[in-house]
Formats: sequence, C-alpha cells, structure tokens
Amino acid sequence: MTDADRAESIMRFIYALRSKGVTDANVLRAMERIDRAAFLRGIFADRAYEDTPLPIACGQTISQPSVVALMTEALEISPRDKVLEVGTGSGYQAAILSQLARRVYTVERHRTLVAEARRAFDALGLSNITCLASDGSFGLPEQAPFDRILVTAAAEDTPGPLKQQLRVGGVMVVPVGQSDTVQSLIRVRRLEKGFDYEELRPVRFVPLLEGMAKD
Ligand code: SAH
Repeated sequence: MTDADRAESIMRFIYALRSKGVTDANVLRAMERIDRAAFLRGIFADRAYEDTPLPIACGQTISQPSVVALMTEALEISPRDKVLEVGTGSGYQAAILSQLARRVYTVERHRTLVAEARRAFDALGLSNITCLASDGSFGLPEQAPFDRILVTAAAEDTPGPLKQQLRVGGVMVVPVGQSDTVQSLIRVRRLEKGFDYEELRPVRFVPLLEGMAKD
C-alpha cells in the first residue's frame, strides 16, 4: 500500500466510525493514530481498515473497530486513569485505551496471544501497557483498584471479583448474556454504596472462559 492509499483508507475508516455513531474526538484521534494492521497477520493485515472483526491466532478474533470505539467511549476514560482490560486478544483494544489512559493492564488466557500482543506494543512503542497471561475472570487483585475495567469477552453475569476491583466512582463496561447469542453491553458504576447498571446496546463477543488455555 502506498502512503497516499493508506491516508485515504484511514480517512474512510474514520468516516465509517463517525457514521456508526462514534463522536468523541479523543477516541477518534486514538483510532486514527493506532495502526490496526500491526495487530493482524498475513492477508488479514490488508483488511485492517474494514469495519469488520477478523481472525487472529488461537481461534480468536480482533473486534470490529466501531465496537472498539463505542466501548472505549462508553468507558469515559480520563487521562489519569488506571484501566484493566480482560481479553487482550490481538492487543488492538488495549492500544486504543493506552492513548487515553495513564496506564493499561490487559490480561489474556492464551499465552500465544500475550506474546504476539507484547510484540505489537513494542513495535509501536506503547510503553504504558502491561500485558499478562492470566485468567481475567478473577481480575488482577495485585493492581486493584482500577478506575476503569473493560471486559472484551461475554460474561453470564457482571463478574463479582471485577466489581470489587473497581474504585468507588469507577466504571466497568462488560458484555453480559449467554454465549453465542446476542449479549447486552452493560455499564456498571461503583457508587459509595452498591452499583448502578445501565444497558447500552446489543453486542456479540466470544465467551469469558475460566482457567488458562493450553496454548
Ligand atoms: N480485545 C481483543 C478482542 C477480544 S476477543 C482485541 O482487541 O483484539 C476475547 C478474548 O478474551 C480472547 O482472546 C479470549 O481468549 C479472551 N478470554 C476469554 N476468557 C478469558 C479469561 N477468563 N481471561 C482472560 N482472557 C479471556
């Protein structure tokens, strides 16, 4: 791809995100800055600027860019925030978060994906991301509390350990529902006492599984 072709496809990409309802200028700037192709391999890298999910290693998928952008918007991140992402996958969503937050922790149950995501973060010089192989259904207690938590796999219910690792005033965005059907994107706010829940939109994610994967 020539530089002019790349500039043109990024312009179309941002236009497509706007037309899907992404309005936050900081989120759009992050989406413009992070090259999605760096998180894809082989023939799929050529399709990086299509608004579609694509296959990555370990039978997983990189999310659709408009879904990444809308979930990022829903998190309402401030520059001083410490964010936890559960489900690193390709690392693309974590890279977007890294442009808006002070520090990003991202955890993944497939070690192969952790290794590949770390390589991509290094190649792009993203030094405020820590990527760890671990079962994110228990969160990351040693780094808690978090200002923001984003779960990019579908839980059957809002995970209790993650709610407990939210700071008071903190926000978690999580797809909730039975796997393989349509799930609801839920925004959870931790209040002084208890939690507030808001249903945002239908989404479709792979299930949040317990335990580490073999690969
Ligand atoms: N955020 C990713 C896409 C997420 S796909 C991206 O930007 O590319 C969902 C990911 O969640 C998969 O890679 C899957 O392996 C991972 N996952 C599922 N259950 C998990 C768990 N309990 N702990 C950590 N990762 C998990």
